[in-house]
Amino acid sequence: MYSPPGVKTKHNDFPIPDRMRAWVLGDPGQLSFTEKPVPVPKKAEVLVRIDAVAICATDLEIIYHGPPASIQGGLPFNKNFTPGHEYMGRVVALGPGVDEYQIGQRVAVEIHAGCGQCKRCREGMYTSCHNYGLNYGDVDKGHRANGFTTDGGFCEYQVNNINTLVSIADEMSDEEGTLVVTAGTAMYALTELGGLVAGESVCVTGPGPIGLMAAAVAKALGAHPVILTGTRDNRLEIGRQLGADAVVNIRKTPDVVAEVKRLNGGKGVDYVVECSAATGAVNDAVRMVNRGGRVCLAAFAHEDVPVDVAHIVRNNIYLYGIRGEGKSATHRAEAFMRQKRFDATKIHTHTFPLDDLPTAIRYAKDRVEDAIKVVVKANMGAAQKEAAE
Ligand SMILES: [Zn+2]
Ligand SMILES: [Zn+2]
Repeated sequence: MYSPPGVKTKHNDFPIPDRMRAWVLGDPGQLSFTEKPVPVPKKAEVLVRIDAVAICATDLEIIYHGPPASIQGGLPFNKNFTPGHEYMGRVVALGPGVDEYQIGQRVAVEIHAGCGQCKRCREGMYTSCHNYGLNYGDVDKGHRANGFTTDGGFCEYQVNNINTLVSIADEMSDEEGTLVVTAGTAMYALTELGGLVAGESVCVTGPGPIGLMAAAVAKALGAHPVILTGTRDNRLEIGRQLGADAVVNIRKTPDVVAEVKRLNGGKGVDYVVECSAATGAVNDAVRMVNRGGRVCLAAFAHEDVPVDVAHIVRNNIYLYGIRGEGKSATHRAEAFMRQKRFDATKIHTHTFPLDDLPTAIRYAKDRVEDAIKVVVKANMGAAQKEAAE
């Protein structure tokens, strides 16, 4: 029975085994299902029983290519590393001194705890921690970003710093709970980093999970109009249901810049959130935005992309990248979801048991059956069994 010194548990309600099932990354693209000890929370940490974990495009980057994961100062391969970062569950054990959360509480978890001591962490920009990945040997700054620099969520239990926890509403399903941080990332991009206020105009390019959540959050924040561009009608339709005032299929509308301006009364928009990673997307974005407007880059491009610097300079355009979910924006996103200001479950398409992670990854990677957000659940069999009895 799991009973590390100084750690509070309630085994009657939430029994915790000593060992758990966990996926680990071998060579690029190779995952194997194995066993690991259940991790132990330290000061200011809790143990979370993982009830659901969503697959993110960044997980695919890590599993097949490595970065942005950094384990022991290098690539994450063959280091007994467990990826996965978009998870939710229940607090089942408290580290020494923790009274901010109770055992049994349902939480979504932010990914980045940061080091807590560098300039950016002190500013609340812990996703841009200057000590990223430094949590080993004589450079141990205690940095944690689960699924990136420490073990993540493709397993049954994980430790999380209390600063990364977000209490979620009882009515929220496990699957919806995994989307709180995705919505929080969109919130961070638009408000904390972007400075959006109600009534400003927004165009989101690329209807992936972040793009769809950006459209939903922008609308809930009072942006107008909210325009979404993409190549797949089914995803654009979901964007419309989430709050986009207008959608543009760029396959049918080749001059997307002119169309976005037309939809905004002939003028460029105040914000573009670029989520497509298409080669021409940055130049399109800086031409869609009005003079003095802001372009948030939220997608990883694999090659160098051409950028019309002179246009950006002449037009006083702000260009900024977004990494994850800083400044506790996730809490405000959860408040929107709690109030049902948008229905994030519309982007969840498939759920698989944890043992079936490779199938789930294939669905997410190859967009099988128009998959958008694919979730895996450790106790799916049990839950189904309970429902059947
Ligand atoms: Zn993610
Ligand atoms: Zn830091």
